Amino acid sequence: MPEPRVTVWNEYRHELDNPRVSAVYPQGIHAVIAESLRSHGLSEVRTATLDEPEHGLSAEALAQTDVLVWWGHKAHGEVQDEVVERVVTRVLGGMGLIVLHSGHFSKVFKRLMGTGCDLKWREATDKERLWVVNPGHPIAQGVGEYLELAAEEMYGEHFDIPAPDELIFVSWFTGGEVFRSGCTFTRGSGKVFYFRPGHETYPTYFHEGVQRVIANAARWAAPTASAPRSFGNRQPLEVLPAGDGQ
Ligand code: ZN
Repeated sequence: MPEPRVTVWNEYRHELDNPRVSAVYPQGIHAVIAESLRSHGLSEVRTATLDEPEHGLSAEALAQTDVLVWWGHKAHGEVQDEVVERVVTRVLGGMGLIVLHSGHFSKVFKRLMGTGCDLKWREATDKERLWVVNPGHPIAQGVGEYLELAAEEMYGEHFDIPAPDELIFVSWFTGGEVFRSGCTFTRGSGKVFYFRPGHETYPTYFHEGVQRVIANAARWAAPTASAPRSFGNRQPLEVLPAGDGQ
């Protein structure tokens, strides 16, 4: 099985207009995630950003993407509906999707979940510990019992998502909240993974464990070779008994 072709999509606005963010991610969050995927052996990695034509997600670009990684926050509303539709259609057809952090409010994620996707949040001095609650899952491979992030934004339950197919991580925060921070979903033929960490003012995407999870998820979310999806009226495979079809 060849390695999946990954596109790392980033809104790429905070890094350009907030010095606190550009101090952490001078080349953008997408550049750090792409480089970490390459260092984990995924050689076919490209990046795309909101302000590129068609947000860097043309039909051709998506056709050559097996797994799409999504980071967005302040400009969810600027993502064109036509591109959202294109991404959703590709996911239903089998493309993997990894939605990071504030991507919980992206049009793409909300469309695929069908719920409000809201949550509680706080930017303060919380530490986050992400407990692995599904140690046999490929996304948790090599992670150990938990990941610890010295400083992160808090996301708390209730997280308004449908019941996940699988829960991989549950986060605990210093303030006492918990959160379903690693969830898988299947939509059509596509696999979706939501992974919570990654507030733009913290160096979260440099964390070795976080990088490993995203690389594991890219491999897990890759399309499975199967028959193309087919719907509608069809002829029987066997000779049917005589009858009037009523
Ligand atoms: Zn955030």
